Amino acid sequence: MFGFLSKRKKTAAPVVRARPEHCISRKNIDPDALKVLYRLDKLGYTAYLVGGGVRDLLLGRNPKDFDVGTSAKPNEVKRAFRNCFLVGRRFRLAHVRFGEKVIETATFRQNSQTVGEIIEHAAEGPFEDNTFGTPETDAYRRDFTVNGLFYNIRDFSVIDWVGGLKDLEKKVIRSIGDPMIRFREDPVRMMRAIKFASRLGFSIERGTDKAMKKLHACILTASAPRVCEEVFRLFPYGKSREAFLMLWEYGLMGDLLPELAAFVDADGGRKSSVWKYLATLDRYEVAMAKQGYEVSNGIRVAALYAAMAQAKGGNSREIVGTMLRSLKIPKATYFGATLMLDSVKRLSQPPQKGRRRFIRNRDFPDALDFNRIVVRAEGRDEKILDQWSDLYNEEGDEQ
Ligand code: ATP
Ligand code: MG
Repeated sequence: MFGFLSKRKKTAAPVVRARPEHCISRKNIDPDALKVLYRLDKLGYTAYLVGGGVRDLLLGRNPKDFDVGTSAKPNEVKRAFRNCFLVGRRFRLAHVRFGEKVIETATFRQNSQTVGEIIEHAAEGPFEDNTFGTPETDAYRRDFTVNGLFYNIRDFSVIDWVGGLKDLEKKVIRSIGDPMIRFREDPVRMMRAIKFASRLGFSIERGTDKAMKKLHACILTASAPRVCEEVFRLFPYGKSREAFLMLWEYGLMGDLLPELAAFVDADGGRKSSVWKYLATLDRYEVAMAKQGYEVSNGIRVAALYAAMAQAKGGNSREIVGTMLRSLKIPKATYFGATLMLDSVKRLSQPPQKGRRRFIRNRDFPDALDFNRIVVRAEGRDEKILDQWSDLYNEEGDEQ
């Protein structure tokens, strides 16, 4: 850890990979993000594509969003774009809007808590606000090395202050700086490490892994809405089985969802039936994403608790209620998930004509999909569900 800092002090220059030495092509960058980058560059500011977008482009993946980092201050960004709105109180961010799309444009920042000596030689003159920083400090305030890379619009090079290029090649998630400090500073980063490792199929570097094993309980000091958001971000991309298995192994599940973790412990640990429902949910997530749909959080929660509800013979309110209390999941997600769990018994019997109120319920299509997940995970026949589907379609035709 200390070696990391002292080495850094000697080599103050970043690794720069010129255009022919990396695979990022402008045709894979969102045209509106390019507009923002070019305009800032033309006005004389430094303008980089930053964060997850650069990581995903280097991995040949399709980025979810394209964020811009710049030397321009928020009010300067606002002046540069008519379609720009400033948001956030503590850190003012510029949102440059293109219809529904937002290109988040942030002034380079520094992390006042951890940068310490890095700042000493990195600061280049007075800033209006001491939260602003340089490209270097902005790289160091980020969470993991693979998330700390920049793509420079001026010469199309990739700039690496933190060893992210090497870690992308090695497929590791490594904390930037001392993980014991960085995870205490923001425990949600431990969940993010799991999110990236599971999503990208990366391993977690040894020091980062050790810190997570020591500090997992700090997650209880993080705010419920942030934790809740990160929990739901573990589901898309079809890797929730890996992600929740890691949450359980690191002890984070025991902290956040103790009843579920205790069930996994008693139900065979790595062999628990919890994982087979999540694996089936993952296949469904991938199939839905291919068709351009996002799976509802109700289905995701129901799948997470399917094994427990099955083993405990119902009382879904009590079972999912634990998640409502500890993570403060939205009420609608809670009610949706309990309805779906309760529907398993009913949808395992052939439908009776005349009793159609259930079919008209807003959550019925989700309940039907959830039941297909359950039936597939358990290797049962889908014929009865097909009958319910037919009835649902008839109902639609009649209306
Ligand atoms: P995704 O594809 O899920 O959006 P991402 O890497 O873009 O992944 P975001 O949550 O969108 O993640 O954050 C954008 C960038 O901001 C990250 O790549 C990282 O550099 C930085 N970042 C986000 N959250 C933190 C955090 N808690 N601590 C430090 N840096 C963070
Ligand atoms: Mg992102």
